[in-house]
Amino acid sequence: MYIDASRAQAAALRKLGRAVILAIESSCDETAAAVIRDGREILSNVVSTQIPLHARYGGVVPEIASRAHVEAVNAVVDVALEGAGMTFGDIDAIAVTHGPGLVGALLVGVSTAKALAFALDKPLIPTHHIDAHISANYLAHAQLEPPFVCLVVSGGHTHIVQTAEYGVYRLLGQTLDDAAGEAFDKAARVLGLPYPGGPALDELAELGDPTALRLPRPKTENPYDFSFSGLKTAFIQLMRGSAPPPRTKRDEVPHPVMRGSAPPPRTKRDEVPHTVMRDSAPPPRTKRDEVPHTVKRKGLLDGIRPEDAAASFREAVCETLVDKLIRAAHFVRASNGGMAVPIALAGGVAANRRLRALLAREASREGMTIYMPPLSLCTDNAAMVGAAAFYRMMRGDIADMSLNAEPTLPLPIG
Ligand code: ADP
Ligand code: MG
Repeated sequence: MYIDASRAQAAALRKLGRAVILAIESSCDETAAAVIRDGREILSNVVSTQIPLHARYGGVVPEIASRAHVEAVNAVVDVALEGAGMTFGDIDAIAVTHGPGLVGALLVGVSTAKALAFALDKPLIPTHHIDAHISANYLAHAQLEPPFVCLVVSGGHTHIVQTAEYGVYRLLGQTLDDAAGEAFDKAARVLGLPYPGGPALDELAELGDPTALRLPRPKTENPYDFSFSGLKTAFIQLMRGSAPPPRTKRDEVPHPVMRGSAPPPRTKRDEVPHTVMRDSAPPPRTKRDEVPHTVKRKGLLDGIRPEDAAASFREAVCETLVDKLIRAAHFVRASNGGMAVPIALAGGVAANRRLRALLAREASREGMTIYMPPLSLCTDNAAMVGAAAFYRMMRGDIADMSLNAEPTLPLPIG
């Protein structure tokens, strides 16, 4: 029987405390596969992005996503194995994201992983997408171990969790409406930026003045919850109420992000050196910044520069995220008998330059240790799935052939 053989193998691997895992991720718009050793070492990490397919629609189209996953998944798995210099015979277990995500997209990864696990007679490890995002930190920071506090910010999720042990979480706060990435994407759309808006808005914001627009800082009853819909609506109303900015000398400075019709390729962001972690200062003020910002005066909205709007919105979101995360870390310290725990960042929005810089600055001010994944492990990938899956298997958690896609799978709470 498949399940008996796979249980026996999983038990043997647990005893050894070692495993080479082939991981598959297809929850949204990236088809990804990776080979991970012992939950910490990346042997290969392959991501095939569907961004160009969805860009013309301004968002992910589920049917297109499912079809593109089907077309890509076998090749992506082959390239991941090749990159690790391995064959299927070298793999100890197969891991897959089975939720949360788009059901049709998840099903492609889940069926592929089930077929491989059954054919190879290897354990099948089900993985939660948020657990995977958080586990990206284990790949980059050998010294990081639970307990720690983590802010997970992606296109679909905004959570502050306390990681009690590997893969077991306590929820401290979450968004009551829009996720942080969703808010970035919607604000970017209003600015005419291409999908996915978050990275494009981040890039544009580097050129702007974060104090140009007065935007609300959202408040919630639970201090660790988030609510971005009021901020988003305030921003959209402000922008929609404004006529196109008059042409001035300042406008002749080209806005490369605004003009480009294609989204910035994924790899470009990944090539950006990780100076953002060290460079916590805001972008240097230039001559352009010295021009008075008429938008500060009520009723004079015509003069809003897109880069100032982007910078102001980014500042409001990032300040809110960092403020709540630092407060949550204080709360955990207090409930931990005064013992500090490290802070970690995870999810696609963790690639945001201002968020990384602000958090680095505030954490150092508070004497807190922080961990952030490298940019390439922030957005969806399968390496993080392999990391989470390793610890899951070490807890004895494996699946049988009844494993299904779970679009609303809740976070494992302990
Ligand atoms: P999912 O929600 O499917 O897990 P990801 O974890 O891949 O998605 O995160 C994608 C989200 O992250 C998108 O909303 C995207 O706009 C956002 N994002 C990516 N890079 C940045 C950035 N530099 N600044 C702000 N948002 C970003
Ligand atoms: Mg994600």
